[in-house]
Amino acid sequence: MLAIYPGSFDPITLGHLDIIERGCRLFDQVIVAVLRNPSKTPLFTVPERIEQIRQSTQHLSNLEVDSFDGLTVNYAKLRQANALLRGLRVLSDFEMELQMAHTNKTLSERIETIFLATSNEYSFLSSSLVKEIARFGGPIDHLVPKHVAIDIYKCFAKTHLASPQTTDLAPVPERPRMESTTETPHGQEA
Ligand code: ADP
Repeated sequence: MLAIYPGSFDPITLGHLDIIERGCRLFDQVIVAVLRNPSKTPLFTVPERIEQIRQSTQHLSNLEVDSFDGLTVNYAKLRQANALLRGLRVLSDFEMELQMAHTNKTLSERIETIFLATSNEYSFLSSSLVKEIARFGGPIDHLVPKHVAIDIYKCFAKTHLASPQTTDLAPVPERPRMESTTETPHGQEA
C-alpha cells in the first residue's frame, strides 16, 4: 500500500520524522509531499524543505520526497496512492484533521486517511514552535535534525545581521527623556 504524508514541513521536525519512520514500517511505500502554498510565507523554499527531508530520511529505502500544489486528493490520485498519513498531537489537531478527512472522503471514496498518534515526547512539537524558539536565540537541537537546526540558525543570523531599518526584530530606539517642565500633570506631552 502506498501512502502520502502531506504537509508544510517548514521545517521538518523530529515529530514529523517519527511519523515518517513509523509510516515506513506500516506501508510498502510512503511519499512525503511538501505542499506548495502561495498564500503562506514560509521560512524555507520548497526545494530547501525537500532537501532537508531527503537528508533526514536517507536511512529509509521505501520513502520518496516530492512536492505538490492544489488538492491533496488530486495529488494522491495522480500518484495512485490509497492512503493519506497524518499525525495527531493534541485534541485541537483532531477537530481540524477530522474535518479534512471527511472532506477528502467526499472528494475520493477510495482514499483513506490514516492517523498516527504522536509519540509522547513530541506531542508539544511543531515547526512554528521551533521557529519561535530560534528567533529568540533558544536551543532547538533537540527538536529538529542537526542539519536543519544549522539551516534555521543561519536564517535567523541573517535576519539579525540585516539593517535595523529592514527588520522588525531591531530594537526600537528609546525616545530621549524630556527634562522640560512642559509635561502635563498626567505625564502626557503638552
Ligand atoms: P500542515 O500545514 O499540513 O499542518 P505540518 O507540516 O504542520 O503541515 O504537519 C504535517 C502533518 O504532521 C500534520 O498531520 C501534523 O499534525 C503532523 N505533525 C506535525 N508535528 C507533529 C508532531 N510533533 N507529532 C506528530 N505529528 C505531527
